[in-house]
Amino acid sequence: MKDKAEPVDQRPSVTPVPLEPEFQLEREGMKAGELRKAASCVCCGKKILRGIPMFWRVTIDRFIVDLNAVRRQSGLEMMLNSVALAGVMSPDEDMAKPVMKPVTLTICEDCGMEPKRIAALCELGGEGERG
Ligand SMILES: [Zn+2]
Repeated sequence: MKDKAEPVDQRPSVTPVPLEPEFQLEREGMKAGELRKAASCVCCGKKILRGIPMFWRVTIDRFIVDLNAVRRQSGLEMMLNSVALAGVMSPDEDMAKPVMKPVTLTICEDCGMEPKRIAALCELGGEGERG
């Protein structure tokens, strides 16, 4: 946590801000081929490398809650009168299941600052994992 005062403006600056070292270790960069595939914004169709050299990579995933699994879990919690104990005793089944393959989208800085509907973004497509 940083305790020094930061400017309130959250817009990206023109000068890239160095990432925290631990964040850099967790993420991989994009090679030329991957960047080429992600070169256009799915919203406006324009190239991402204009203006500020930053862009958004958004992965959208959709799930449905398995109500029967939720009922089983909450029933066990009520029976044992302990959420923690039920967590240990339960079969640890999925409470929600994916209903689509994740969609990964490239969005330019300008479009990234505008409100979007998630379902509409899915319809715009994306590369790779759409199914
Ligand atoms: Zn755009």
